[in-house]
Amino acid sequence: MKVFKFGGASVKDPDAVKNVANIIKNYASGPLVVVISAMGKTTNALERLTEAYFEQKKDNTESIFQSIKQYHINIAQELFPDKHIVFNAIEQKFYHLYYYLQEPPGKNFNFEYDRIVSTGEYVSTIIIAHYLSEKGIKNQWYDAVSLIITDTNYRDAGVDWLKTENAVKTRIQPFFKRNKHNLNPVAITQGFLGGTTQGFITTLGREGSDYTAAILAYTLKASEVIIWKDVPGLLNADPKVFESTKLLQNISYQEAIELAYYGATVIHPKTLKPLLKRNIPLRVKSFFNPEEDGSIINQEFLNDNLQPSYILKTRQILLSIFPKDFSFIAEQNISRIFSEFARAGVKINLMQNSALSFSVCFDEDIIKTSALLKNLEKIYNLKYNKGLELITVRHYEKVNIDELLKGREILMEQKNRTTYQWVVKKNYK
Ligand code: ASP
Repeated sequence: MKVFKFGGASVKDPDAVKNVANIIKNYASGPLVVVISAMGKTTNALERLTEAYFEQKKDNTESIFQSIKQYHINIAQELFPDKHIVFNAIEQKFYHLYYYLQEPPGKNFNFEYDRIVSTGEYVSTIIIAHYLSEKGIKNQWYDAVSLIITDTNYRDAGVDWLKTENAVKTRIQPFFKRNKHNLNPVAITQGFLGGTTQGFITTLGREGSDYTAAILAYTLKASEVIIWKDVPGLLNADPKVFESTKLLQNISYQEAIELAYYGATVIHPKTLKPLLKRNIPLRVKSFFNPEEDGSIINQEFLNDNLQPSYILKTRQILLSIFPKDFSFIAEQNISRIFSEFARAGVKINLMQNSALSFSVCFDEDIIKTSALLKNLEKIYNLKYNKGLELITVRHYEKVNIDELLKGREILMEQKNRTTYQWVVKKNYK
């Protein structure tokens, strides 16, 4: 049994959907679980819709709603003959959303968000399940609300692993058993969504569909997960930022977790641990060139240092904290500082201390940063720079560092056996 995950870019238009059906037809070998995201940039549009609804901007709500609906109908019109039952199913989903939006919103924004934003994944899986049937691919559509059981932390829900394992097994396994003489039965469901024990919709955090694929693979003890992307596989740097990038053919789970931790946006960070636990390999492959191998993440770590990896984080703040009473920066001050960061919900990206100061680099955030600075100011003297970059290089041995940092002033640096990091200021001339 394998799990395939298709993200928004892989289902963004009619041709993309056709390509997905071809990949499922040609590359499934045995029972397959297919996890699908919302089409194209639908989640961003639904986020705008939620905000307009919450602020009760009626015209905005109406026009965003109509454009999302039309986008999906246009895709379906290219894929299905007139009067196909899929049009009823799409209409019904949007009808429910429409009537939901007519009522005034409740107080809990995150609850409303999950209810509204989930429409993207629902409609995309409805369209794709019908399209697979049209193409003769035996499939069963599942509602993720009754598969992925979560707590009530709307918008960033935590998974109840025992309940989820139970729900997935009792729902999906019988379908595969019933269809064991069918070559490739497909169970299809929404990425990113879950449900509380009471059946309310939750979401797992933006880009959470990778995580859904990992949860399902874990509970069904899959032999492999494949994430289909618009890049050839895992790259050693973001191609939008760095000029020449290389494919990482094989890295270990640990290396992938480190890369995600340092800010590489390759894979949703929560994805890897469940796979590591059951030793399920994760492949990243191109949906443009499905016959190519792509990258594989597994237990093998011997190839981890074949290529350096580069990660750039922008909008960084470097803050230096000085005790007002000239006390040394030791355990007491450090624990105080950490508790202020924890209270403000600010994650530290890099830190360094000297006798009289403690320096910390973190992401700028309009709300969290000012609350943090206000609280720290009461006890410490502060100095900070904004608009900085944090550059991280894994396996830096053969990297030309002077070249990499050209035109940048180093404000702080740190190095260990595998990782070199710099907080830098770009010199604009
Ligand atoms: N559609 C969701 C998002 O755009 C989840 C996902 O694509 O992984 O964040």
